[in-house]
Amino acid sequence: MTTTGDAPFDRPVVLRGGTVLTMDAARTVLTDTDVLVVDDRIAEVGRHLAVPQGTTEIDAGGGVVMPGMIDTHRHMWQTAMRGYGADWTLTQYFVWYYLEHGVRFRPEDVHAGNTLAALEALEAGVTTVVDWSHGLRTPDHADAAADALLNAPGRYVLAYGNIQQAPAEWTATPEFRAFVERHRDNDRLGLQVAFDVTGDPDFPERPAFEVARELGLAVTTHAGVWGATGDNGIKLMYENGFMGPETVYVHAASLSEDSYQRIAATGGSVSVSTESEQSAGQGYPPTWKLRAYDIPVSLSMDTSVWWSGDLFSAMRATLGADRSREHLEAQSRGETVTHSALRAPQVVEWATRGGATVLGRDDLGRIVPGAKADLVLIRNDHSPVSFPLLNPYGHVVFQAQRGDVHTVLVDGRVVKYEHRLVGVDLEAVRRDIDATVEHLRSAVGETEWAAGMSPDVPESKVLDNPYTYTEFRDSSTRGR
Ligand SMILES: [Zn+2]
Repeated sequence: MTTTGDAPFDRPVVLRGGTVLTMDAARTVLTDTDVLVVDDRIAEVGRHLAVPQGTTEIDAGGGVVMPGMIDTHRHMWQTAMRGYGADWTLTQYFVWYYLEHGVRFRPEDVHAGNTLAALEALEAGVTTVVDWSHGLRTPDHADAAADALLNAPGRYVLAYGNIQQAPAEWTATPEFRAFVERHRDNDRLGLQVAFDVTGDPDFPERPAFEVARELGLAVTTHAGVWGATGDNGIKLMYENGFMGPETVYVHAASLSEDSYQRIAATGGSVSVSTESEQSAGQGYPPTWKLRAYDIPVSLSMDTSVWWSGDLFSAMRATLGADRSREHLEAQSRGETVTHSALRAPQVVEWATRGGATVLGRDDLGRIVPGAKADLVLIRNDHSPVSFPLLNPYGHVVFQAQRGDVHTVLVDGRVVKYEHRLVGVDLEAVRRDIDATVEHLRSAVGETEWAAGMSPDVPESKVLDNPYTYTEFRDSSTRGR
């Protein structure tokens, strides 16, 4: 990404007089409170703070200051196809990306998508994104993905994946290991390993799990996806000792009680992509079930091919889906829900501290002295929706939106101010995206490009298993 010089903000920085959602363990809310940032960390939180000379002052009066939001599953490389698949089902997505056109993405296309996704996230107050990067079919693609993230001013975790090859194959390459060694111990670019477990009883994913373990990397896996991955995969992971507290199960939307128990018992967490589950068809957004098992939750947006890249939408959709389920189930028994089980503060926690916990980062997702200064100020003086601010959590979940994000800091640096990204050459990014779209469009062909927004589904293969690298099929993935 191109930046135009350093951000014109000296540190320290103080956000003055906001309503602060600390997201500490007690979910303390502080009114008329300052947050002082020194270097990359939160130095002090309190009223009328004395600050060092030369501190940049940002007025947070009338606004909400909250920790930067954390998205634990987003396919950033797909962002150049923004909105293209708005009417897709999951099956059509598999056809377009897994079977037909995913291979057309060049390293520079991955770079362009990642760069745009990185900016899209920051602009919406999402300061950390797990890039579920399953388009890395060559080492050059991987370098391009990492390069884009390293040059963007947010915080990322690159979850390395490759849908074109079996996990046991690409994780065994020296190039993969070299990549991991090259990018280890970077505070702004963490690493995970991303692959799915088909449920094949031969458990061909075992070597990939072993490599991840040897390298000390967490595995993130689409698990509980109707028609693709189900209970058999969870069972194999469990019986072979590959389920741990660091494991992230994406969607976990169509699983049996048994699988939820295994996830709970091994301390794993679930990345819930409510908008995705609601319209693509992985299964019902599972927070209502995860709450019953006390399984930790983080939120995610999945892909901008369909949905927005902001977690306001994720929080709103998640609260709605959970309540909708609760009402529906109660009413089917002739009962009335008189008190909502899921509350706004809980979904704000999932969008912030919840993501931090999943990533093993107790220095993120909370506004307390010593934590990393990844911060969001929601304030929009020109919006009639900005006042009155009576219920800060309710305001964030149901009233605010990305356009209300006034200021964003990552690692103590101001990356968005007065509703604009700082030091970003968006026109350069647009040129790269245009080149990628032009390349894909001509490679796909005009007729198919138009048809691709509602792709035909082959008669075989896809419903049982979208992965090109295996012929394994399993009827159990269709149901419980
Ligand atoms: Zn996904």
